[in-house]
This record gives sequence, structure tokens and C-alpha cells, in this order.
Amino acid sequence: MDPLQVPRPTWMTEDLVLLEEQASRFLAAELVPHVEKWTEAGIMERSAWDKLGQAGLLCASMPEEYGGAGGSFAHETVINRAIAHAGLDAIGAPLHSGIVAPYILNYGTEEQKKKWLPKLASGEMIGAIAMSEPGTGSDLQGVRTTARRSGNGYVLNGAKTFITNGQHADLIIVVAKTDPTEKAKGVSLMVVETAEAAGFRRGRKLKKLGLDAADTSELFFEDVALPASSLLGTEEGQGFAQLMRELPQERLIVAIHAMAMMERALELTIAYTKERQAFGRKIIEFQNSQFVLAECKTEATVAKVFLDHCIAQHLDGKLDTATASMAKYWHTDLLGKITDRCLQLFGGYGYMDEYPISRLYRDARVMRIYAGTNEIMKLLIARGL
Ligand SMILES: Cc1cc2nc3c(=O)[nH]c(=O)nc-3n(C[C@H](O)[C@H](O)[C@H](O)COP(=O)(O)OP(=O)(O)OC[C@H]3O[C@@H](n4cnc5c(N)ncnc54)[C@H](O)[C@@H]3O)c2cc1C
Repeated sequence: MDPLQVPRPTWMTEDLVLLEEQASRFLAAELVPHVEKWTEAGIMERSAWDKLGQAGLLCASMPEEYGGAGGSFAHETVINRAIAHAGLDAIGAPLHSGIVAPYILNYGTEEQKKKWLPKLASGEMIGAIAMSEPGTGSDLQGVRTTARRSGNGYVLNGAKTFITNGQHADLIIVVAKTDPTEKAKGVSLMVVETAEAAGFRRGRKLKKLGLDAADTSELFFEDVALPASSLLGTEEGQGFAQLMRELPQERLIVAIHAMAMMERALELTIAYTKERQAFGRKIIEFQNSQFVLAECKTEATVAKVFLDHCIAQHLDGKLDTATASMAKYWHTDLLGKITDRCLQLFGGYGYMDEYPISRLYRDARVMRIYAGTNEIMKLLIARGL
């Protein structure tokens, strides 16, 4: 799939081209046939995660000594792109591999890395990150969940909501206050292994506008006793700084996903308008259709060139918060505009669930909201003006 024909960026090596093709073939054969069933059920089957792990498609950027594939963010990128091009937008694997695992790798002790990363890489454990609460989402300093010292460990109390992979997760990084009298300085990241956490409860699997097969959920922690080794790293009060350092990668992952969805929307729409007829002509032969698609292709091409620049910057360790925020805001906003215009060219069929453009339109909407809303992205960009 390449409706844009942007030249291959320098970071995209021959190995990565092969990996992307291999991932696409695997996803088409093993996961895509189950999407309808998962969409109906509102959750993927656990076995899908095992298959992803066996195929080496989880934690591709984690070092081999911790069970990963020893790749880089470029490896995560092509796998995530293959997932989005396949229409598997509801799968929480990009979050598991590109967001949860890096927290453990970058801030965990050697013991924590050895304990958790191999299980995340194999799919034996599914990861989640629980920041948002019923009372606070954008304002992370305001979290009410607490991890209070007790004996040799901690006691965790609080409620989280909108948590991706919430029903399946075995390992949850919970944003909590170890010092509730402080704001950012009171925040720590606590790693909860759900199998061992008495007092942990999964709440509702939330019904949503889109991403039907994603098990986005409420989570509750009531006097959950945690060992001291649940604190990510060795020092309390580092959580907010750790989040701030990792969020640019999360935002870039969302931009990459949005870009792949734009490509898919264009590909689907070009194919449809070349088939469907009205007034004795193909839909693509109307000048309006050509103008709409020409505009979409132009805007998506500009977006892709900027995104490739951001990925190259990130691979060089130079992507700053403002630029990552621009990518997240710009690509997800543009995705909304492009899916809307593409859907219009499908006429009534665009509104029908059985047409992939319809689901793509619904799935796209949340991307302007999660991983930091686009308004928060603009605040971060504006700080550097
Ligand atoms: C499908 C889905 C999956 C998600 N997955 C996860 C997950 O895995 N883990 C997790 O922790 N969270 C997750 N979230 C939560 C998501 O990150 C939050 O919804 C998001 O950060 C916004 O927080 P909020 O919903 O509390 O909105 P609020 O913070 O209440 O914001 C409401 C509105 O006010 C605006 N606003 C807020 N502050 C400002 C400001 N300072 N200036 C201008 N405007 C402002 C916002 O932009 C928004 O438009 C998910 C959400 C969804 C829908």
C-alpha cells in the first residue's frame, strides 16, 4: 500500500522493508480474519497476543538480553505501520511495545528489567499504563491515586479509567502519588502485577464511539499491598519526570498510526471511486472527486515528509517535546479531515459498518483526544514560542 509515493527515507533500511512486508503477511493471515469477531465481542482474544509474541512482533526495540528483538524505534515503527495498514487499529500492541516496555527499560532496575521485559516480549504478560482517572486526565499532576509506604512496601488506592488493554493487562504501570502533599514531585510510577494484587479489580469494559475491539477499561485499586520492588526504579517522586521524558515517543507513535490510517483511507477511496458509477461515469471521473482526492493526497504527502523527519530526529535522540507535539496534533487533525472527505466519496456506503472507511472514520476520532489532547499539544508547542 503506497498511495503517496514519498521517497523512502534514509532511516528505512532494506531490513526494515522486509520486516514490514513480513509483519503485513503475518497480520493478514493470522489476525485480520478475526477482526469482525473481536469487534462484535468488544475485545481481542488473548491468543492474538501469544501469536504476536511468537512472531517476534512484540517489543521489537527491546534488547535481546531482555527477550526483545534488539531493534530500534524504526522496527517498532514499521510494525505499527503494518498494524494500521491492516486495519487493526484497536490492537493495543503499539502501546505495549512502544510505551509500556520502554518505561521498564529506561527506568527499571536490572532486576525489574530481567523480571518483566522477557514476559512482555513473549506476550506472556500484556502491558498497560494507567494515568487517567475519572477526575483527571490532562492534568496528570492532579492524580488522586496514592501509593503510601507501609512496612517494607506500599499500599495502593485509587481508580483509573479509559485504560487501554484494561481487561487483558497482567502488568500495569500505575501513576500514583507517593507524596500526596506534593504535585509533580509527589508522583511515582508503580508496577502492578495483576495476578498477585489482592484488592485490584477490573471495572467495566467501556463502550466507545470507535476502536470497538479495544478493551479500554476502568481499573480499581483498593488497599493493594505492593512490595517495595513495585516502585519503578529506586527513587520516589521521579514519576512525573519519567512521564515527561517518555511522552514524546508516545506522541510520535500516535502520529505514525494516524499517518498509516490516512494512507489506508486514501487507498480505499481511490479504489472505490474507480469502481463505483453514477450518471454513467466512474465517481473518480467527476472533477469534484479528483479535486478532493488531490487535496487529500497533497496534504497527506506533506504530512508524511514531516513525519519521516520526526522519526529520523527521534532515532538520532533529538526529537524535542514541541516537535513531537506538533506531529501528534497535526497528523491526528489531518486524519480527521481526510477520513471525513474520503467517507463522503463513498456516499451511503461510507456510513455502513461493513465498509472499512466507516470504521476508520470512527476509530480516527479518539486520536485527537488520547496521548494528550490536541489542545494540550498546542500548549506544549506554545511554551517554546
Ligand atoms: C480510547 C481511549 C484510550 C485511552 N487509553 C488510555 C490509557 O491507556 N492510559 C491512560 O492513562 N489514559 C488513556 N486514555 C485517556 C486519555 O489520555 C484522556 O482522555 C485524555 O488525556 C484527556 O483527559 P480527560 O478525558 O480527562 O479530558 P480533560 O482533561 O477533562 O479535558 C476536557 C477538555 O478540556 C481541554 N483542556 C484540558 N486542559 C486544558 C488546558 N489547560 N487548556 C486548554 N484546554 C484544556 C481538553 O483538551 C479537552 O478538550 C484513553 C482515552 C480513550 C478515549
